[in-house]
Amino acid sequence: MLKLFIAAFSVALVYWIWHKKNQIFSHRNDKEDPFITTIEAIELQTYLDWDTPQTCLESDGIRYGKQFKQKIPPELPHEQGCRCEATKLFYTSDDVFQGTSPVLTHKSALGELNPKDALLLKNMLLKIKLSTKAENFSDFLAQFELNNFSANIRTKAVALAKQAFEQE
Ligand SMILES: [Zn+2]
Repeated sequence: MLKLFIAAFSVALVYWIWHKKNQIFSHRNDKEDPFITTIEAIELQTYLDWDTPQTCLESDGIRYGKQFKQKIPPELPHEQGCRCEATKLFYTSDDVFQGTSPVLTHKSALGELNPKDALLLKNMLLKIKLSTKAENFSDFLAQFELNNFSANIRTKAVALAKQAFEQE
């Protein structure tokens, strides 16, 4: 009778430990944020210069990968004069949602630019490529908020845009 009691007690004890262990593990899983996941992708980054081709400017910042609309990155170089780079990056779903990139600097003829300066310069260069040359450069400049450039590169960025404008 005692043996039976010990056996029953052991089974109960094993069950209790197993149950506790499951509880601990399920708690551990609860702590992970289910909304943050890591996503692997290729991001194209264009070297910004006065003569950067339009295709490259348009491709800058585009992400390729399983979770993105475009799955496979194009063959580089895009065309003559292309200095784009394809970089493998790991995003969080938060980066993707916010539109931010894990890359913190952007290569250009003015050196490494921060994302804000790079975006503004790219938009200027792209606008030059797309616009018909009816206006003069200062009229063209008026549509941009130049104060958004970092003070130390503002003059150089405008000079670079001017060179692009005159060569177009
Ligand atoms: Zn390119």
